[in-house]
Amino acid sequence: MPTITFENQSYPCEAGELLLDALTRQGVNLPFGCRAGGCQACMLKATDGDVPALAQTNIEEKLRRKHYFLACLCRPESDMTIALPDPADRYHSAIVFEKVALNAQIIRLRCSLPEEFSYRPGQFVNLTPPDLSITRSYSLASLPEEPFVEFHIRLLPDGRMSRWLAESVNNGDFIFLSDPLGHCYYRNQPRPLLLAGTGTGLAPLYGITRDALGQQHPHAITLLHGALDQQGLYHHDALQTLADAHSNLHYLPVVLHDGAPANGAQGSIQDQFAHQLETLPSTDCDAERQPLIFLCGDTATVAAMRETALAAGIADSLIYTDSFG
Ligand SMILES: Cc1cc2nc3c(=O)[nH]c(=O)nc-3n(C[C@H](O)[C@H](O)[C@H](O)COP(=O)(O)OP(=O)(O)OC[C@H]3O[C@@H](n4cnc5c(N)ncnc54)[C@H](O)[C@@H]3O)c2cc1C
Repeated sequence: MPTITFENQSYPCEAGELLLDALTRQGVNLPFGCRAGGCQACMLKATDGDVPALAQTNIEEKLRRKHYFLACLCRPESDMTIALPDPADRYHSAIVFEKVALNAQIIRLRCSLPEEFSYRPGQFVNLTPPDLSITRSYSLASLPEEPFVEFHIRLLPDGRMSRWLAESVNNGDFIFLSDPLGHCYYRNQPRPLLLAGTGTGLAPLYGITRDALGQQHPHAITLLHGALDQQGLYHHDALQTLADAHSNLHYLPVVLHDGAPANGAQGSIQDQFAHQLETLPSTDCDAERQPLIFLCGDTATVAAMRETALAAGIADSLIYTDSFG
C-alpha cells in the first residue's frame, strides 16, 4: 500500500485508489474541481517518488518536467511526497480592480491583465487566493484586447470560493490565475454558431460571441441564455444592444419560471435549443454547413443539449462544452 507524504504527514493510499480520494477521505483539504482531468484545479507537484504517466495527462511539458500531476487521475504505484504547486511555476498574479453585482446572485470581477497571459475568449482559468487554499475554475468573459480579464461569478450559499471572492476580496488585492485552459473558443469557420448557456454559463459565451463579431463572422450567430426568472438574465440590455447592432446576431433569453422579456421565450432552454437546431439550415446531412455549437453552465443541462445536438446529426467534433458542476 503506497504512503503519501504531504506537509510532513503520512497518509496510506489503498491499492488502486486515487490520490485525491485517499487524501480527502483522511481529511486533507486539497484543491479540486471537475475530478475528471479537465479543469486541472487539483494539480500538485511530486517532490519525491514516481508519478504514474496517466496522472500527467494534458499537463504542459514545462510542468511535466517539474513532476506536476493531477491528483484526480493519480493512482500511486509507490510512495510519493507531494506539495501544492509553486505559484511561480503555475500562476500569474492579477490585481482585482473592480467588483460589481450584476444581480443578487452574480458578481462581475475585473482584474488586471497579467503579463505574458495570452488567451482566447471563452477559455477558463483556475483562480486561487495567495495562500492557495482553494482553487476553482472560472471562464474568461473578456476579450484579449481589453485591459482586464473579466469573470462572472455565481454566489453559492456555502460556496467557499464564490463567497471568498464576494466577501473577502477587495479592490487592490491580488489573486492567482493559471494559464488559460479549455477548448470553448471561437473558430473562424464558414458555419453558423449556436451558443447556449444557463446562469454564468453566459460568461464564456459572452466572450465567444463578441470575439466572433469582432472577427466579422459572416454567418448567423444564435445566443440562448437560460435563467430561472427574469432577474437571472444578467447582461440582458447589453446583449440586446449588441444584437440590435449586428444583423447576424440573434439573442434569445429563455426564462423557466415567470414571464419572459418581450424578445424572449418562456420554458426550458433545452426545448428552445432543440427548436433552434430544427430551424437552422442543414443540420442533417450537409456536414459542411452544420453549426459550431458551444454549451456552457449547469452540467445536466449541458449534457441534455449535447445529446439533442448529437441526435440531430451534428458531428461531435463541432460541439464544445464547459460543464460547471
Ligand atoms: C471549466 C469550468 C468553468 C467554470 N466557469 C465558471 C464561471 O464562469 N462562473 C461561475 O460562477 N462558475 C464557474 N464554474 C464553477 C466554479 O468553478 C465553481 O465550481 C463554483 O463557483 C462553486 O465554487 P464554490 O467554491 O463557490 O462552491 P463549493 O464550495 O465548491 O460548493 C458549495 C456548495 O454548492 C454546491 N455547488 C457547487 N457548484 C455548484 C453549481 N454549479 N450549482 C449548484 N450547486 C453547486 C456544492 O455541491 C456545495 O454544496 C466553472 C467550472 C468549470 C469546471
